[in-house]
Amino acid sequence: MYNYARRKKYPDTMVFLDVVITECCSLKCRNCSNLMQYYHKPENLDPEEVIASLRRIFKAVRVKQLKILGGEPFVSQKVLMRILEYLREEALDRIDEVEVITNGTIVPSEECIRSMKETPKLKVLFSNYGELSSKLEEFMQICRDEGIDCDVAETDYWWDFGGVNERDEKERRTQHRYDACYSRKHCNTLFRGKLYACPRQAHAIRLGISPEVEGEYVDVLNSENEDPAKLHDAIYRLIDRKERITMCKACGCDSNIKIERALQTERPLDVSHGS
Ligand code: SF4
Repeated sequence: MYNYARRKKYPDTMVFLDVVITECCSLKCRNCSNLMQYYHKPENLDPEEVIASLRRIFKAVRVKQLKILGGEPFVSQKVLMRILEYLREEALDRIDEVEVITNGTIVPSEECIRSMKETPKLKVLFSNYGELSSKLEEFMQICRDEGIDCDVAETDYWWDFGGVNERDEKERRTQHRYDACYSRKHCNTLFRGKLYACPRQAHAIRLGISPEVEGEYVDVLNSENEDPAKLHDAIYRLIDRKERITMCKACGCDSNIKIERALQTERPLDVSHGS
C-alpha cells in the first residue's frame, strides 16, 4: 500500500535517495545505526564514481529528495564540492531537493560555503547532539547570512539498533522487522556504485559483516544497467521487494529501546565484539 500510494503520487520517481560520500566521521558514536563505529580505516569516496552512478540513476528515474551524508560529509569537502558542481551542471532538473546532513562539528571552508550557496534546492540539515555539535550555531549563522536554507533536527535520544550478530528469532519476526522498517522506505542508499535497501545493509556488506546477496541490491555501474529501462526496473524491484534482506537478521531497529544519543567511543569497535 505504501509503495502503491507513493508510486501513484510520484511516478518514475525515487522519493528518497541517500548518497554516501565518505566513510569518515568527526564523531565516534558507539551506537551509530549505520555502523560507522566499526570502520577502522574509513575512506572518502571517489567523487567521479558517485557521479557516474548518479548519472545512470537520473537517466532511469527522478529523485524527489537526495540526501548527501557520510560519515560526516564536511570531513570530505572536496568530494562534496565536486558532487554539488555535477548536480548544478547536469542534474538539478531531475531532483526536487538536495539535503546535506551534518552533525554540526565542522565549519566548512569559504569555498565550500560558496559552492552550497550556488546550488539551488540545497538545504543543510543539522543533527543536534548538544555539546558535541560544537560548531552548529556558527555554521547556522553562516547559512543565515549567506541565504543557505538550513534546519535543525533535534534528537533527544536514539533508538537502539543493537549489535551486528544474527538474532536467534523466528523468521516471522525478522520478516516483520523488514515489513515495518522506516529505513528501507526512506533511506535507500547509494554507496560505492551500488544501491542498497538501507544504509545499515550497505555498510555491513562493506565491513564484511553481511554477505552480498544477489537481488538484495542494485549494481548501478554494472554494464547491464547502462540501459535506463533496465536500471529503472531493477531500482523498482529493490524498492518493491517483499522478502526481507539478509541483514535484517542482524538488526534491531524495532527494539523500541531508547538510548543516549551520540554516546562516544574512544576507538573503533571490532565487529567480533558487536553483539
Ligand atoms: S537491515 Fe533490514 S530491518 Fe534493518 S534497517 Fe535495514 S532493511 Fe530495515
